[in-house]
Amino acid sequence: VCRRCGRIDDLTALGWRCYCGALLDLTGPPADPVQELDGPGEPWSLWRYRRVLPLTGDGEFWRKVTLGEGLSPLVPVRPGLWCKLDYVMPTGSFKDRGAAVMMSVAAGLGVRRAVVDSSGNAGKAVAAYSARAGIDTTVYVPAGTSPAVTQAVESFGAMLVSVPGGRSAAARAAREAAESGAGWYASHVYRPEFVHGVKTLAFELWEQLDGRAPAAVVVPAGNGTLVLGLWIGFRELLAAGRAARMPRIFAVQAENCAPLAGLHPHGSTAAKGIAIAEPPRAGEVRAAVVVSGGRVLTVTEASLHEAHRSLARLGMDVEPTSASVWAAWGMGEGPTAGAPPTAGEEAPVVLVLTGAA
Ligand SMILES: [Zn+2]
Repeated sequence: VCRRCGRIDDLTALGWRCYCGALLDLTGPPADPVQELDGPGEPWSLWRYRRVLPLTGDGEFWRKVTLGEGLSPLVPVRPGLWCKLDYVMPTGSFKDRGAAVMMSVAAGLGVRRAVVDSSGNAGKAVAAYSARAGIDTTVYVPAGTSPAVTQAVESFGAMLVSVPGGRSAAARAAREAAESGAGWYASHVYRPEFVHGVKTLAFELWEQLDGRAPAAVVVPAGNGTLVLGLWIGFRELLAAGRAARMPRIFAVQAENCAPLAGLHPHGSTAAKGIAIAEPPRAGEVRAAVVVSGGRVLTVTEASLHEAHRSLARLGMDVEPTSASVWAAWGMGEGPTAGAPPTAGEEAPVVLVLTGAA
């Protein structure tokens, strides 16, 4: 369904945005993520929730592309505070959730070539799942992207195109390539299938907390796909009567690049995964945060470095982007700014660690 003109069409008929140019959402009959579980014999991956994923035609319009993603550990760090280790994934980040579902749709549609823009984990994830699906993918990265990312992308067999002019220029180049027929736009920002893959994180948290929604979830936010995924997932649990409340969603940005907090981006940040100056879904992301009762938290570069070290001392070696949630939660002591939610055994707070070091 189009957010602007209300047009409803089949997933197979539309591209990565509406004919009117606006972003797309998915709509469908409400389903109960828990009722839909089969129980024993369920795949030990996010595919246990496949009946509430936007996949219709049972193999006709999609073909499962999986590396066993999902079901990441939830680890207590102190009473009432848990870390969700979503960096324990096939390519080391939560992006595998979205890439698996998105590339399953692409494979089902018979896509042979795809294009994507990224400067980090999304590029790695899409390249890996493209390899798994046998789809030739080109990843557009901004010039200066870290060799760790570019080497990973190339090792998966994807073609790499370095674009001068920063993250937005790389996105523009990928969109232009898609529109000129170079390939299917496997965008983690525009493709709503991606966000529905990410929503499985909400179902997992609910199951891991014995059928409870957390009081609050704290996540790094750049494009905000994780915020949107949690929002959709918990909304489905609420609608099914499984959760008693929507968790407060706290989105963390680096002070140097915090457009979601209304700050003008300036300077660079070690949290590269959330350094997005103009997130296309900013309005939706801000709305989800505010309606959930959460807020956007910002962290300084100094606190990022300290948090990175502090988390590693707990055995959790994550990228600086992920350490932002630990920094925002005052190294686990509670939010550094604003009213803290009541945390405790009955109302746990979950910090999502999104990417491996
Ligand atoms: Zn439209």
